[in-house]
Amino acid sequence: MTGTVTTAAYCDRCGGSLAEGDHGACAAARRLEPPRYCGACRRRMKVQVVPAGWTATCVEHGTLRS
Ligand SMILES: [Zn+2]
Ligand SMILES: [Zn+2]
Repeated sequence: MTGTVTTAAYCDRCGGSLAEGDHGACAAARRLEPPRYCGACRRRMKVQVVPAGWTATCVEHGTLRS
């Protein structure tokens, strides 16, 4: 346990529980779109589109980049 990796529990596109339902369409869309929800805490992420892609920030879990 390093504490740096948090296991995703929620779909980062629709915010639903990964344990419920089929998120295959979400995963496909996520190849083209930034995430909308943090997979660890389900907070809405602050998404910024930048020329190279995007960044998505969770206040709790930090920033993801495309
Ligand atoms: Zn989903
Ligand atoms: Zn988070």
